[in-house]
Amino acid sequence: MVDPWEKKPVRIVCISDTHSMHEEIDDIPDGDVLVHAGDCLGRGTLFELDDFNYWLGELPHAHKILIAGNHDWCFERYPDKARPLVTNAVYLEESGVTIDGIEFWGSPYTPRFRDWAFNVDRGEKIASHWAKIPETTDVLITHGPPEGIFDEVVGPDCGMSVGCADLAKRIDSLHLKAHIFGHIHEAYGYGVRAKDGVKFANASICDKRYRAIRKPIVIDLVA
Ligand code: 5GP
Ligand code: MN
Ligand code: MN
Ligand code: MN
Repeated sequence: MVDPWEKKPVRIVCISDTHSMHEEIDDIPDGDVLVHAGDCLGRGTLFELDDFNYWLGELPHAHKILIAGNHDWCFERYPDKARPLVTNAVYLEESGVTIDGIEFWGSPYTPRFRDWAFNVDRGEKIASHWAKIPETTDVLITHGPPEGIFDEVVGPDCGMSVGCADLAKRIDSLHLKAHIFGHIHEAYGYGVRAKDGVKFANASICDKRYRAIRKPIVIDLVA
């Protein structure tokens, strides 16, 4: 018998770094909330964004959340044109939304690497963005990982942890249920941190060579 007071979990389906290759994703499970953690585009044009938004509209999820990543230039350069194009998701940029009793917060910033969109210097500057994350946040969505968690690059910098130390520090002062990100494609993965039970997902769909080969990550949360 089902306990009438039992809370049904909210199913969050996580994707990131689809880089305008969304049509190639194998299979997206249904769920209550679809979260895209940035780099939905390749070159970052409004034209690409319009195509991506159309694709989002065909997905069955009741709620969809999108943040920008460092490739998604149109959100930084032409916010007044880009934001209205997103008609099939809630776009978060240092802002939040509550769905089924779960508080989400989204932020596009990543530590400066070359010179991409939403790049901010490590240290005080980027920490001032993380300081804006509300204490009540349940699910944090950032484009990049915190330092030490699904953030290791391969290639010339093999094994180097490039996530944001200031972000790692901030999330340790919060009481998150989950943190969803992408950006470091090769560090795709999911895990639950032993010390506090926070669920971490690097949901990069593309691999290092921009092939859309990874599976969406599913997180079930009780509000
Ligand atoms: P994207 O250009 O899609 O943001 O990132 C693609 C890849 O660039 C990542 O999978 C990673 O290999 C590399 N990358 C991104 N950011 C950094 C960074 O801050 N440091 C290093 N070493 N590599 C990065
Ligand atoms: Mn990417
Ligand atoms: Mn809360
Ligand atoms: Mn990125």
